[in-house]
Order: sequence, then structure tokens, then C-alpha cells
Amino acid sequence: SDIRENLTYPIFGQAIRELAQTVADDGYEPDIILSIARGGVFVAGGLAYALDCKNIHLVNVEFYTGVGSTLEMPVMLAPVPNAIDFSNKKVLIADDVADTGKTLKLVHDFCLEHVAEVRSAVIYEKSHSLVKCEYVWKRTDEWINFPWSVEPPVVRREGQVLDA
Ligand code: 5GP
Repeated sequence: SDIRENLTYPIFGQAIRELAQTVADDGYEPDIILSIARGGVFVAGGLAYALDCKNIHLVNVEFYTGVGSTLEMPVMLAPVPNAIDFSNKKVLIADDVADTGKTLKLVHDFCLEHVAEVRSAVIYEKSHSLVKCEYVWKRTDEWINFPWSVEPPVVRREGQVLDA
């Protein structure tokens, strides 16, 4: 369908504060926020400030190749985080959306083997997600336009370079 959930940067700012508040109200105090790149990096940065957590890690996962088109399974790309950094830590996984939930499950399972505790925070969760995140700002089943990926990458404009 043509229906889209449109997240803007101003609404994103509000969403992050509200998402962080639900984590705080729940009494969860993560030692580490593990972001799933690239979309989860925005979420992790916002949550880290709002929760006063100074330790952000990052894992790159590749899954989606376009609107609604995916690889067969998500894969962690190198460099994979060093599990030793997570030993006996309370981790909060941060991502933009749990859609099929396969990406979050991959990262969650990776963490489970090493950490003291792991929970997940997402802006959006879709009803068919196989992972149920502890912290969700909004539920939708529409395709979401995120402010960081709604526009194509910038391209170089010839003849626009100023002289030094
Ligand atoms: P999952 O593994 O849960 O199916 O998908 C996780 C990743 O796929 C998300 O982190 C996001 O990058 C991408 N993705 C899934 N659903 C959507 C969507 O509705 N809109 C956008 N822009 N990306 C999505």
C-alpha cells in the first residue's frame, strides 16, 4: 500500500525522550547501549544522553536491500563486537524498528551468551515481529519513513567547489 508512517526529526526527538522515560521508569540502568547500525545509531545516541549512559557500542547488520526486500537472513558484518566487553554488563540494544524481528533476534542471541542482562528498545515494533522488545515507543504495521533515510544520499555537484 501507499500508506506510510512518517517520522520527522522533531517527532524523533520527542520519541527518544519518551522511550528513555519508559526505560528509566522501569528501573533499568544499562551499562552499555548496543546500537544496530545504521538506524539504531540515532536511537542509541539519543538514549545514551537521556539515560546518562556514556558507553555506546555498535554492531553492523545487513538485511534490507530496499522497501520490503531483504536478504534471506540478517548477517553481522565485521568488525563484530568483542563479547569480552559485554561480560557481566547490563546491555540495552537500540534499534529503529523491530519489523520481522530477525535483526534484533540475531543481536539479542549474540548478547545472551555473554551479558548479565539484555533488553531491547526500539522506536517502532510491528505486530508480526518474532521478538517482543521490552521498550517500544509506537506500534505500527506500515512501512516507516525515517528522517535519516527518507532522502537519497547526496551526490557531488560539479562546479560547486569554492577556491581555497
Ligand atoms: P527486521 O530484521 O526487524 O525485519 O528489520 C530490521 C531493520 O530493517 C531495521 O533496523 C531497519 O533498518 C529495516 N526496516 C525494517 N522495517 C522498516 C521500515 O518499515 N522502514 C524502514 N525505513 N526500514 C525498515
